[in-house]
Amino acid sequence: MRVEIKVIGIVQGIGFRPFIYRIAAANKLKGFVRNRGDAGVEIVLEGREDKINHFLKDLKTKKPPLARIHKIVTNHTEETGNFARFAILKSSETRELSGSIIPPDVAICDECLQELRDITNPRHNYFFITCTNCGPRYTAIRQLPYDRENTTMKDFNMCEFCKKEYTSPANRRFHAQTVACPQCGPKAYLTTNKGQPLSYADPICEAGHLLEEGHVLAIKGYGGFHVATATLNDEPILRLRQIKHRAQKPFAIMTRNLETARTFAKVSPMEAETLSSYMKPIVLLDKAKDYYLSEQIAPSLHNLGVMLPYTGLHSMLFDRVKEPAFVMTSANAPSEPIVTDNTEALKKLGSIVDYFLFHDRPIAQRCDDSVIRLHNENVNFIRRSRGYAPAPINLKRTFKKNVIGVGAEENVTSCVLLSKKAFISQYVGDVENLETFKFLEKTVHHLMALTSAKIKVIACDLHPKFATTRLAQEIADKEGYLALPVQHHHAHMLSLMGEHDLDEILGIACDGYGYGNDGKAWGGEILHCNKDKFHRISHLQEQPMVGGDLATRYPLRMAAGILDGFTEIEDWLLANRKSFPHGDKEVQTIVEQLNSKAILPTTSSCGRILDAISATLNLCHERTYQGEPALKLESAATRGHDALRLEPEFLNSNLKTTNLVLAIFEARDKLSAEDLANSAQSYLAKGLAQLAIEAAHKIGIDTIGFSGGVAYNKHITLTIRKHVEKSGCKFLVHETIPAGDGGISFGQTIAAALSAD
Ligand SMILES: [Zn+2]
Ligand SMILES: [Zn+2]
Ligand SMILES: [Zn+2]
Repeated sequence: MRVEIKVIGIVQGIGFRPFIYRIAAANKLKGFVRNRGDAGVEIVLEGREDKINHFLKDLKTKKPPLARIHKIVTNHTEETGNFARFAILKSSETRELSGSIIPPDVAICDECLQELRDITNPRHNYFFITCTNCGPRYTAIRQLPYDRENTTMKDFNMCEFCKKEYTSPANRRFHAQTVACPQCGPKAYLTTNKGQPLSYADPICEAGHLLEEGHVLAIKGYGGFHVATATLNDEPILRLRQIKHRAQKPFAIMTRNLETARTFAKVSPMEAETLSSYMKPIVLLDKAKDYYLSEQIAPSLHNLGVMLPYTGLHSMLFDRVKEPAFVMTSANAPSEPIVTDNTEALKKLGSIVDYFLFHDRPIAQRCDDSVIRLHNENVNFIRRSRGYAPAPINLKRTFKKNVIGVGAEENVTSCVLLSKKAFISQYVGDVENLETFKFLEKTVHHLMALTSAKIKVIACDLHPKFATTRLAQEIADKEGYLALPVQHHHAHMLSLMGEHDLDEILGIACDGYGYGNDGKAWGGEILHCNKDKFHRISHLQEQPMVGGDLATRYPLRMAAGILDGFTEIEDWLLANRKSFPHGDKEVQTIVEQLNSKAILPTTSSCGRILDAISATLNLCHERTYQGEPALKLESAATRGHDALRLEPEFLNSNLKTTNLVLAIFEARDKLSAEDLANSAQSYLAKGLAQLAIEAAHKIGIDTIGFSGGVAYNKHITLTIRKHVEKSGCKFLVHETIPAGDGGISFGQTIAAALSAD
């Protein structure tokens, strides 16, 4: 009997062919296996029927841990008797089936880590130790099929020792394309910030010393460069802040191991599991009571981003130092994507760092670290990137048309929706300059090529001036796709509906900004979503933005607009004159604008209200990074309680916010900022829940969902949950898709898929 099998899924780059080889041999079958140009795998078997059936069972039940089989296509034919044995053949270029994809990068496995530590092993202290179960994949693969010449290992010829492992079926490195050793593989080296080589026998160990001494280093990793320094003293971090022009933005850190993490942060069992998973994301952990690292790592925040070493190089950095952790932040010029190229690194980072720790293996795809926050047991993806992308999210429904979404403006990702799978790209960032735009363009085309998807519709944001909207339009015109604009908050809710397979939901969508159907700024919305349609039921009270976008940067402007008419705004602003770049003059302009009765742009954004309260409580007067005022408010609130116990008030069935800001303003000298921060969040959560519950009862649906960047706020989310569940409704939040704008591209594809069906 002969059977031809095609396997679709994540089946290249994870030891799949060696696995097929082994189960074919165990079942005494002849034939071959090979990778295909469409990221799938093709198998031909000849032998006894019972053995073939046994093989097919093994294929499903014994597959390698990282393999994901989406579909198996079989075709039974007459045996030819042409095969003498079973073999792994050279890959074919055939691109015919869509839906397979290459795997994400995988953190160093335990066996490789053990070998790294074993002085008798030829790869002892070799920074680029990998096997079929671990190492870079997405970031190392230039094109398909997954063969060494299509990866960034192309120029490293295997030595005899590596080749022997590569060709031994029983070896863990059988057909591992990234196999390398100190003799034949990539080399790490230290240079000055001008690129002059420094000769050290052990450059990585030396880099660890330099970090501990307080130097700033750029370190090349899998998906780009990190900028690193010590964590116990303020001085190097302050210096880094100064040269990177990042006054307050929290830096992620990499700590030696889980035990060390527990000395400065609270780690729940689930957080421990997430930190140690083979994806090794950054996990936001609450600072421990006796937190002892520099306060400059995450100033005025109650938590900090922590990850564990995920490459041999990372582990080695900690080998001969006492430092419990190092700052490890993505290296990029302001609002540009992470740096990946050695020459570019010298040019863009040379003035920032003291030394470079380079290696000579290029990076094929740029990829930032992923960021996760847990709300008790619930996983929140703040950034879904390294370790996750481009592995697809499994959907419960099969969509007929293939579509792509390109995101909004901040935290952009792109997404290809194909049948029952959503392939979301790595984090692209804020598409506001040419570099990021080019990165997005490349990512969109790469994703379409990788999935071999035959696209019909390209979805984008409703905002006519976003760069992403322009890109979608360009691609649509060129390729003949249909371009479909999707309202921002509708996309947030659709991403939740797509994730949970719902046709209808009562949605609470809260974030900083989204372009509304009426052209106004939205961001605190109660929407009734029904398949690809939505109806805006209510929202937060619209508030003026004094100075337009300046009110986002300087949230006291937002507060001034809200409090105008209730207090002596001018005196209050003058008392805070230092918070405005132009001091008294700027205060005068604000007051004039308020008095002129000119029509100011308004917003219903929840983010802007949180910002205004943060500024009123003097927690943050300038937003130097995304979400800063709201994050500082949340941190303060963790130390307080709902002392004001304000009851939600409504105006034309919208939730009032003027009363809230005024109450906070009036109580600011009587109650602590912590208690007031907590009270403000409680008011908004209660009010939003009340609006949603009322609407749900009226319409007759029982599912309420929460999406948008504000859903990362633990207190707000848990408070809404409490009220919704008490009302008898079901409460849904995201589990696999980012609640913030990283999930917008996915929501857009759901709109496109539904409209196309
Ligand atoms: Zn390994
Ligand atoms: Zn070698
Ligand atoms: Zn949003």
